[in-house]
Amino acid sequence: MLSLTCRDAGFDCPEVIRGNTEEEVLQKAATHGQESHGMQQSDMTPELTGKLRSIMRQE
Ligand SMILES: [Zn+2]
Repeated sequence: MLSLTCRDAGFDCPEVIRGNTEEEVLQKAATHGQESHGMQQSDMTPELTGKLRSIMRQE
């Protein structure tokens, strides 16, 4: 299981996003970002997804 803490991505937010694969976590992170942080799908740039992959933790 992989986890991604929203706070680690630079948001003041306690949300922890979990998934079985990096792609699943990224998809959930995109949904969370759009619903909770007003992000757009276009905000999920290669730079941001690369950063998110780098801060994911194996649980
Ligand atoms: Zn968040």
